[in-house]
Amino acid sequence: MEFRVLAETFKRLEETTARLEMMEILASLFSKATPDNVHMLIYLLQGRVAPEYEGIELGMGEKFVEEAIARATGYNKDEVERMYKEKGDLGLVAEELVKRRAQMALFSEPLTVERVYNNFRKIATAEGSGAQELKIRLLTDLLKDAEPLEARYLVRIPLGRLRLGVGDATIIEALAIVAGGRELKPKIERAYNLCSDLGRVARELLEKGPGALDSFSIILGIPLRPALAQRAKDAQEIIARLGRCAVEAKYDGFRIQVHRDGDVVKIFSRRLENMTHMFPEIIEGVKKQLKSEKVIIEGEALAYNENTGEYLPFQVTIQRKRKYGVEELAKEFPLRLFAFDILYLDGQDVTQRPYEERRHLLESVISPGPRILLTERKIVETPEEVEEFFESCVERGLEGIIAKDLKAPYTAGARKFAWIKLKRSYKGELADTIDLVIVGYFKGRGHRAKFGIGALLGAVYDPETDTFKTVAKIGSGLTEDELVRMKELLDEIAIPHKHPRVDSLLEADVWVEPRYVITVAADEITRSPNHTCGWDGKRGYALRFPRVVGWIREDKKPEDANTVKEILAMYSMQKRVEIE
Ligand code: ATP
Repeated sequence: MEFRVLAETFKRLEETTARLEMMEILASLFSKATPDNVHMLIYLLQGRVAPEYEGIELGMGEKFVEEAIARATGYNKDEVERMYKEKGDLGLVAEELVKRRAQMALFSEPLTVERVYNNFRKIATAEGSGAQELKIRLLTDLLKDAEPLEARYLVRIPLGRLRLGVGDATIIEALAIVAGGRELKPKIERAYNLCSDLGRVARELLEKGPGALDSFSIILGIPLRPALAQRAKDAQEIIARLGRCAVEAKYDGFRIQVHRDGDVVKIFSRRLENMTHMFPEIIEGVKKQLKSEKVIIEGEALAYNENTGEYLPFQVTIQRKRKYGVEELAKEFPLRLFAFDILYLDGQDVTQRPYEERRHLLESVISPGPRILLTERKIVETPEEVEEFFESCVERGLEGIIAKDLKAPYTAGARKFAWIKLKRSYKGELADTIDLVIVGYFKGRGHRAKFGIGALLGAVYDPETDTFKTVAKIGSGLTEDELVRMKELLDEIAIPHKHPRVDSLLEADVWVEPRYVITVAADEITRSPNHTCGWDGKRGYALRFPRVVGWIREDKKPEDANTVKEILAMYSMQKRVEIE
């Protein structure tokens, strides 16, 4: 396929303000795709060259991209930099300089999607001393043969500034339409939940037809999308929904999925990034303590103080998310893994077995040792027993409990009442914090003006329409330094108009691609004419006194933010409490 077709698609996606149109543009692109290139299109649309779990990140620094533009167009680097200052977007600089150069080009070979993809993949995997020079050459090579519009995107992709915000759900829907109809959507989702690679799902679908979707199953070494928990108001609700059930302690750490195939151990985060290198002590523990050679378990990794035996706060655990100094940290703050589920054992997918059976398998596969432990749990039958277990967890500084349906299978990629969380609440606040997607910001007035951000516009996710509905204007919680950093990050993903997947009545001063998730605490949820979350024609819902807690949640994608439904459920829980 000619790369021009993809570049034009990018342009149309960039210009649209309607989510339906976004899907039609994608469907039109996929209708021209073949089984050999559809995965390339899907990755490139998301600014990637591989599914997340492969850990192959496409990235180039601005200076190297400027060098490639200079080499490909014959302008010197000072000129490129000067234009960059003027336009603020290297993609537009490349477009302009390629246009000016166009008259002079003698030979050029039209770019294909395949060639672009292959060069980007080489850029992403280049390592060692000559890597930077190689990356510059690979990009220069593409830019030399590019038309102006193509150059715009060739430059934005490796800079991570595509800003299209095309989510998985939109791609899935467009694929379904092209491959046979919307009813294929759940099947595509299921296949995706099992293999975490939409490119692969699309390739099989186009090659073998919808029947191929049924043959997807777990593969050891490839992460599956995690099961998620619903929330409950109180112990009564848990028993009303589940009856006799298990309750487990809820640890506030880092969720990981551990795959062991003999001596090869891989560890994936909640959003399926490969984080194997961050957990050396857990890898050791897996090799020593797991009795099976071929196994997948899930659990919460948590830092603790070996001397006092105390569990340390999430901020300490999360320090592990870094490239260097991991070994030292593993000594200073070793992690423990609290295992809570098993998905695969001795060559067999066990996700369809009931929870109670999986728990027994999990217990039998872990030998005693310091590194891997089982989550604390109890079987309960009454609300009083739930309450008692909850209190004992909270007293010891744990976050709360997760109740589990004894009969439920493991539902990859879905939030079901098979798991129900109950968290401790803070007086005068909502019982739980809320994860929002930043969709834009307002410039500050007065004292705030010097930071450039007065408030963030936050939205929740609506999976039914695959859009983001606003629910809060968040004006506090960030320090001055954080405001400055936040502005830099947001300006990199700024777009000229409201994103097609965002539904908002408020007009932000700066709109951004929905990419970053932040956690927000609030006092309560109120009805509001300003926000689109839960809109009934007159009013929606809003968070009262929202404030940012922590920093950007890198372990969450925009679609992992809280949903409209969850806000409505939290609103009705809060109302019931008021009446009582
Ligand atoms: P979610 O993962 O549900 O989107 P979140 O990341 O904000 O939300 P919480 O709402 O606090 O997390 O609770 C769910 C998370 O709790 C799980 O994803 C898992 O990481 C963690 N967890 C801790 N202990 C357990 C346990 N015993 N069983 C299952 N999950 C647990």
